[in-house]
Amino acid sequence: MAKLTVEVVTGERIVFTDDEVDMVIAPGASGTLGILPNHAPLITTLAGGELRVKKSGQEYAMVVFGGFMEVTPDKVIILADAAERVEEIDASRAEDARKRAEDEISKRGATEDLAAAQASLRRANIRLRTAERRRSGRRSELPGT
Ligand code: ATP
Repeated sequence: MAKLTVEVVTGERIVFTDDEVDMVIAPGASGTLGILPNHAPLITTLAGGELRVKKSGQEYAMVVFGGFMEVTPDKVIILADAAERVEEIDASRAEDARKRAEDEISKRGATEDLAAAQASLRRANIRLRTAERRRSGRRSELPGT
């Protein structure tokens, strides 16, 4: 069966790479995109959100924040502004970032600061939501639950 090579990279590092992937679910700028092998070529910008990679019945979750995705029939390349695998998400750092952003938003009137604080709040919420979803998913997989 056809497979996809997937590379998720930032300017700093390779976040994920695999050449036996069955499906990629990505946060495209205008909505969620499901990519199977032999997909028509496309290039799109990405929103902030969860990126899921399915391989042999397993799923790898990541978060990505902006950037580009290039799809060819046998390859998906994601160049993200920032990206983490779900197990790398530092939830207390994201909690701190969320509190900081909420404080900024409640205190400040300046549009520039407000937009930056709102973007920071969105990133923190995506990280926390994705980490939480993964934790509750793990719990439900425990035998007898
Ligand atoms: P903070 O205010 O905590 O720095 P941020 O949203 O401003 O968060 P980004 O600009 O999105 O941070 O990312 C900067 C770098 O730090 C990137 O390499 C990103 O992957 C990493 N990073 C940011 N927050 C976290 C987190 N909660 N867990 C793991 N890595 C993180």
